[in-house]
Amino acid sequence: MTANPQRITVLGSTGSIGVSTLDVLSRHGEQYVVHALTANRRIDELFRQCVQFCPEVAVVGTAADALILEKKLRAKGIGTEVFHGEKALCDVAASSQCDAVMAAIVGAAGLAPALAAARAGKKVMLANKEALVMSGQLFIDTVIASGATLLPIDSEHNAIFQCLPAQHKRFPNEHGVSKILLTASGGPFLHRPVDTLDSVTPEQAIAHPRWVMGRKISVDSATMMNKGLEVIEAHWLFGIPASQIEVVIHPQSVIHSMVSYIDGSVIAQLGNPDMRIPIAHALAYPDRMFSGVTPLDLARIGTLQFESPDFVRFPCLKLAYEALKTGGATPAILNAANEVAVQAFLDQRISFRRIDDVVARVLDKVTTESSITGIDSVLMHDRAARTVATSLILQ
Ligand code: NAD
Ligand code: MG
Repeated sequence: MTANPQRITVLGSTGSIGVSTLDVLSRHGEQYVVHALTANRRIDELFRQCVQFCPEVAVVGTAADALILEKKLRAKGIGTEVFHGEKALCDVAASSQCDAVMAAIVGAAGLAPALAAARAGKKVMLANKEALVMSGQLFIDTVIASGATLLPIDSEHNAIFQCLPAQHKRFPNEHGVSKILLTASGGPFLHRPVDTLDSVTPEQAIAHPRWVMGRKISVDSATMMNKGLEVIEAHWLFGIPASQIEVVIHPQSVIHSMVSYIDGSVIAQLGNPDMRIPIAHALAYPDRMFSGVTPLDLARIGTLQFESPDFVRFPCLKLAYEALKTGGATPAILNAANEVAVQAFLDQRISFRRIDDVVARVLDKVTTESSITGIDSVLMHDRAARTVATSLILQ
């Protein structure tokens, strides 16, 4: 073991990003110590992870699951302390026993712990884009005030981060950057006839052609709300106006994003579509380390294609641009309405095309220009939007 191993908390360790993070960590055991692992419901998977990584703390969703996990761990002679609930998530994110936090809980549930890590001045590796979409300025102000290091895990934002000048990761447009080119795969329905979209099933929607991801983000990729959330995420991370963030469809997902400079240079970051690349980048930053990903074979890929997004096919992308333009709590409202609609689609309570319809109608009803003053106001708008979305779905 190296003299000062980085002590890591993985929030959402049983998810797609969480598992990839542990895969990278397992390749570099001498440099990292796992302080805490957390999961909502998949206790058996969390148990296996605790056996492998022996964290000091594990956090689960309910008291009943905490008891079950604790019993199983003790029977194996493992001393990991087990807690449950949101306060425990915030505690392991802010603990003096950890240096870096992988924020990989999906959706609004990840906001409070990610903010807690930022407030405590940690190295925050942010996968949970919804947290930044919801709280925007508040999150960035918190990072700046505490001196936290914010590193993007979303592959596009990690790519942009790598393509920006070292000294100008924020407000790069004041230093020669003309545009950010955010690439999008276009998801599974890029070329499906638009009039057949309403009949697609959850299984078809989550069958992403390039990336293996959690169910929610997979549906978001199919509607392109994912790219819309990423436009908002890029705006906050890099301090760039929406007018300088352009979405480019690139079905091969080999170029993870690009930065265009005023002299005509365009710098891109390429790699196989595997989240262990941005995860390894953030864990080792500013150094580099092996991620486990096979090297890119451009001759085998042969062709890279690009096209512009179609707002008729992907109305969620337009809704997200509009929400960012309106500002204030509107992105939080967009995010909450989308989470409710996506869950309803996954539960087969609404059709695919009703996702954008529900989000648009919630935005019409709840739109506000009031700004975000703190986490309580974010959560108030989040709850209001969820109530309206739920009642629209029941109609
Ligand atoms: P996932 O559904 O596979 O995993 C989510 C994790 O969050 C699980 O560990 C789950 O236990 C935990 N969780 C869910 N609800 C919770 C709650 N209420 N309280 C506490 N924990 C809870 O999701 P994922 O695909 O790993 O995505 C995680 C985040 O990373 C999302 O915000 C997503 O947008 C982002 N992201 C994912 C990918 C990817 O390739 N999967 C790429 C870019 C960004
Ligand atoms: Mg992404």
